[in-house]
Amino acid sequence: MALLQIAEPGQSSAPHQHRIAIGIDLGTTHSLVATVLSGKAKVLPDDKDRVLLPSIVHYAEKTTEYGDDAKSFITTDPKNTIISVKRFMGRSKADIKFQHPYTLIGADNEMPAFETRTGRKTPVEVSAEILKQLKDRAEASLKNPVNGAVITVPAYFDEAQRQATRDAAQLAGLNVLRLLNEPTAAAVAYGLDQDTNLQTDHNYVIYDLGGGTFDVSILRFSQGVFEVLATGGHTALGGDDLDRLIVKWAKKQLNIDVLDDAEYAAFIVAARKAKEALSDQPQVQFKALDHALALDRTTFETIIQIALEKTISVCKRVLRDAKLSLNDIQNVVLVGGSTRSYAVQKAVRDVFDQEPLCTINPDEVVAIGAAITANQLIGNSQDGSLLLDVTPLSLGLETMGGLVERLISRNTAIPVARRQEFTTYQDGQTAMLIHVVQGERDLVEHCRSLGRFVLHGIPPMTAGQARIEVTFQVDADGLLTVSAQETTSGVKAEIDIKPSYGLSDTDTERLLIEGFQHAEEDKLLRHLQEAKVEAQRELEALEQALKVDATLLSEQQLTALNVAKDHLYVQLNANDIQAIEEAVQALKVYSDEFAALRMNRHIDHALKGTKLNDWSDSN
Ligand code: ADP
Ligand code: MG
Repeated sequence: MALLQIAEPGQSSAPHQHRIAIGIDLGTTHSLVATVLSGKAKVLPDDKDRVLLPSIVHYAEKTTEYGDDAKSFITTDPKNTIISVKRFMGRSKADIKFQHPYTLIGADNEMPAFETRTGRKTPVEVSAEILKQLKDRAEASLKNPVNGAVITVPAYFDEAQRQATRDAAQLAGLNVLRLLNEPTAAAVAYGLDQDTNLQTDHNYVIYDLGGGTFDVSILRFSQGVFEVLATGGHTALGGDDLDRLIVKWAKKQLNIDVLDDAEYAAFIVAARKAKEALSDQPQVQFKALDHALALDRTTFETIIQIALEKTISVCKRVLRDAKLSLNDIQNVVLVGGSTRSYAVQKAVRDVFDQEPLCTINPDEVVAIGAAITANQLIGNSQDGSLLLDVTPLSLGLETMGGLVERLISRNTAIPVARRQEFTTYQDGQTAMLIHVVQGERDLVEHCRSLGRFVLHGIPPMTAGQARIEVTFQVDADGLLTVSAQETTSGVKAEIDIKPSYGLSDTDTERLLIEGFQHAEEDKLLRHLQEAKVEAQRELEALEQALKVDATLLSEQQLTALNVAKDHLYVQLNANDIQAIEEAVQALKVYSDEFAALRMNRHIDHALKGTKLNDWSDSN
């Protein structure tokens, strides 16, 4: 007789039941959803067979329109038609420096809201509307509720931008299994993580030219983890720019000087049509109003040369940042609708000297990779190693002198916890400010502040004696918790880091790039800061001692000490490590002498203070 089976507590009694998991590419211009059906990843179209949902939300008087239905309102009702909301995600009002037609409300350091006729709408809410559309689409098409979702974000998104995306998903009623980097998703779609024969690390370039943005990332796949080695891009370079270049060319061909707004809009539509058709045919007609022009692939290539060159120079820079040469790159993956153009493919092929991967639709590949990952995470897929998620930027805290002590470095697989001991800087210090930062640089001012909290109630001790254990913990969802505990007394404090606004994507990208570029310079700066902190510690101790025991010194000794001390104060303001170190040494000659005098005085004092009784008691 067969044995009866008992399920583990909390596990489903039907462990092989298929659960619905979706992958969502929440794009700047287009968003879409995909899922794995019978072992194959597929994008899910809406009821009109459209796969790409333009990321547009129009707040009308009574209803809200989305996607293609909202498109026409971009020109007729711009203030109530939110496009490119992704650029606003996780950013404070002060961060938003690009042009847009909206009225933003809120304080400078807060997440702003769009003022619409139906009220305030935050970027998180607008994104949630888009996600909700895709969730509804998936449920209608799969005739089942969605159990979990993987949502993709650019590799350079910081903690705040990721948190905003997570919040939007939650608002849309989605259970987020993971946020996945877009380039990683593209690599997964091509199965680049499934090559188990890999003896060595493999490097991949992901070239993503979308509607309004260009991103290039270099990924390294090593021991089951994709690391982002370097990223670069342009926040205002994409298919839209190619359309504008075609219009410029057409105006010249047709001897047109100025177009009014309506004519210009018609030209742009015609340009886009011609450009997209050119990906299927060698020659097309550019038809706008009553004009018609022939456009072939070679001409198109010349027209967009300037934009292509920009992307190529970014590729070269990113390769340099990653310290790789062309031979180190195993594959190049094309992502984004604009890479359907032959001219773009040719440019990429030429610069990397290899045939790029583009067999999966480049505007669907990110969603496909997200769907595959979602399917694995929810436990449907038996095969393949599970892709580990990593921290996008390094996490650390501020130490004396404005230096960053890194606890968790970039690209560490999560979940992860790291602990380190710190101590007090001053005698009798009873509180400590824990300032959590994110970034790749050595100085706090070059990184991004994530949050601060104070550990109170440290028992007063001599500087350097307290033992404060700081723990950084990133859970599987990427949420960071920082706690600090003084070990002798057990006092404890902690925070969950949930930033309310973020850096601009260019800023985050800059932080990453600067981290690569400034490694040497940072080492020097760190050394300098350390020398300064050391000198300040020396000076502070000396000032303290002078307050009590200055009378021990002769006038001559005191003058010499003060001269050396003042000299060190002056050197502290100049940024010369050697000069500071020399000044510290010079001061030490006198301060050591002073310390010896104090020591004698204390011994004298102690002996004088000893009563006969003390001796007899202990004997
Ligand atoms: P995003 O990731 O920024 O949301 P997409 O990846 O969807 O954007 O790319 C949109 C861009 O792709 C648009 O500029 C569009 O004109 C362009 N595009 C779409 N199809 C084609 C095609 N067949 N040939 C060339 N460009 C195309
Ligand atoms: Mg995209």
